[in-house]
Amino acid sequence: MGKINSICVYCGSQPGSDPAFMKAARTLGTQIANANIKLIYGGGTYGLMGEVADGVLDAGGEVTGIIPKFLIGREGRNEDLDKLTEVIITENMHERKQTMFERADAFVTLPGGVGTLEEIVEIMTWAQLGRHKKPIVFANVNDFWNTMFAQLEVMKKAGFLHSMENLKPIIIGDVSKIVETLLAD
Ligand code: AMP
Repeated sequence: MGKINSICVYCGSQPGSDPAFMKAARTLGTQIANANIKLIYGGGTYGLMGEVADGVLDAGGEVTGIIPKFLIGREGRNEDLDKLTEVIITENMHERKQTMFERADAFVTLPGGVGTLEEIVEIMTWAQLGRHKKPIVFANVNDFWNTMFAQLEVMKKAGFLHSMENLKPIIIGDVSKIVETLLAD
């Protein structure tokens, strides 16, 4: 893996029902800051998105929030954006995702909803097509992503997965091990 200076975290704009999710977001944020890595994320200040950003900021780290104009005030309070190190306002979702991709050296997904799923799956499709080799980590908090891996297994058995050598997501249950894994070698 190349040098990791920034990590893009995808995660729910809601807190989720299991307190372990918010705790995982906080732990990941703290560890990102402690490793002197910049957080790239969607700029929301609610739910897991807010918690991972606060985790970084409270530990003295840097956060870049990338948010489309129309979502300002919907995924977080306007005034909360002021506490981020940098805010990039995009025209639309596509530009947001492209900018997040360009700014990040690695991708981590915590639990989340369809937005989170869409974002991480797109990054996986780009890896599969050989568009990038940046590491992709699933934070498998309380086995949250197991059903998705089961679906991937179904696709594999059915002969639909190709170029699997390009697609090697790293699955880590213990969130406190994510940053050290990304920094190892
Ligand atoms: P969710 O997991 O649904 O709470 O969404 C997490 C984040 O993904 C939120 O910031 C959403 O705005 C964002 N999101 C949802 N759909 C898309 C999309 N098509 N492109 C980019 N971001 C999205």
